[in-house]
Amino acid sequence: MTETLSVVEPATELELAAIPRAGVEQADAAVARAKAAYPGWRAVAPGDRAALLRRLADRVEEHGEELAVLEARNAGKPIADARGEMGMVADTLRYYAGAPERLLGDTIPVAGGEALTFREPLGVVGLIVPWNFPLVIASWKLGPALAAGNTVVLKPAELTPLTAVRFEAIALEAGLPEGVVNVVAGPGSVCGRRLTEHPDVAKIAFTGSTEVGRGIAAAAAQTIKRVTLELGGKSANVVFADADLERAAASAPMAVFGNAGQDCCARSRILVERTVLDRFMEALEEAVEGIRVGDPLDESTQMGPLISAARREEVASFVGPDAPVAIRGSAPDGPGFWFAPTVLCPVDNHDRAAREEIFGPVASVIPFEDEADAVRIANDTIYGLSGSIWTRDGARALRVARAVESGVLSVNSNTSVRVSTPFGGFKQSGVGRELGPHALEHYTEVKSVYLATEPA
Ligand code: NAP
Ligand code: MG
Repeated sequence: MTETLSVVEPATELELAAIPRAGVEQADAAVARAKAAYPGWRAVAPGDRAALLRRLADRVEEHGEELAVLEARNAGKPIADARGEMGMVADTLRYYAGAPERLLGDTIPVAGGEALTFREPLGVVGLIVPWNFPLVIASWKLGPALAAGNTVVLKPAELTPLTAVRFEAIALEAGLPEGVVNVVAGPGSVCGRRLTEHPDVAKIAFTGSTEVGRGIAAAAAQTIKRVTLELGGKSANVVFADADLERAAASAPMAVFGNAGQDCCARSRILVERTVLDRFMEALEEAVEGIRVGDPLDESTQMGPLISAARREEVASFVGPDAPVAIRGSAPDGPGFWFAPTVLCPVDNHDRAAREEIFGPVASVIPFEDEADAVRIANDTIYGLSGSIWTRDGARALRVARAVESGVLSVNSNTSVRVSTPFGGFKQSGVGRELGPHALEHYTEVKSVYLATEPA
């Protein structure tokens, strides 16, 4: 008997859909389909593979509104954000459609013959993704994996499987051969785990928590699977006294509260030079109070609910009676996993709120004394994913950017992700890079071939 997966809408707490729940058997069947499809897919001429990826991007665009509404309802994210994400899915597929014809090798001078290198696909790749940005994070893996000639098994998070399931059908509609893209919607501890242990899976590309990532790396070691991990973060948004304080304060709230704080790039530690702390907090308060929290399908909404009751409980544990709550925004009452945007100040970098990834709309403001102090605090974390530096001093901006141990940094901006630039973490924020040209390295093996041209 097939088990059912009940999918809940976080803004209403009602069931949004009920779909078959995949288990070990379905995971194995998906791997078998991907394995069977692999020789054919890698043999597709590079130009034809590129054309199919472009067609897939077109189809995603055609279904863009349907996918955006589904994502907004299932993940509880503002519809405007969901539309942007679907746009990025199409852009990412199109960007990697440029790759099949550009996977270049080298010729290397050697004695007695010629040495050549080739970039070969890996085979079947398992993609395991979280619930915060379900389809767009999947696309960062699908794009390079498919472009390089791999076939894939995508496991969405149990809480948000709906856009992945639609995507599987859209891939067929776009003309990708049967078995190239396979989706298994089932629990991580069952389906995800099976993929990490399966001998026919060559690589796992994972995005999720550092804790689950550790387990995946350990499981993958048994069969020497390739692994890329995009994990948690506790990023610093460093605001120097010479910055454009109005802009920095206006931008800081959504750099934490975007996606209701459920963002691995959240700048959840706002480091402010002590001499401007009061001025900054005044401007920040105005910005936080202006955030529109509500119905994800309302065009003007900036922040929706959290993903689940369990997540809300976890977030609330950081805002107990002793928490130094300095600013509290608003949130709707009634059904829905709502949590008001909250700013704690002052926070010491050793406090729990500054050390743990809250993954909810809670920001910590941490005062600092000077540049060295700012760099020290920014780096005093197990994570190193993202971050920002606000200053009008260009030399300082570059000095601090070089000193902060983090994979992605912005100066006078809080943006993190672009299709064409590498994204990933230092330290316990992960292994490997997604997006940009760098991602392709993680979906290919380098092969070296020596051809003797001189008589022995
Ligand atoms: P999670 O619990 O680590 O889950 C991520 C994915 O792994 C889900 O599909 C989950 O399936 C699956 N999974 C769980 N246990 C597994 C196991 N034993 N073996 C294989 N797969 C397993 O993370 P989450 O709670 O969904 O997402 C929040 C975390 O993701 C945060 O820590 C955040 O920082 C991180 N994140 C990082 C990035 C980045 O790019 N660095 C981006 C987004 C999120 P089920 O959910 O179905 O059980
Ligand atoms: Mg989880």
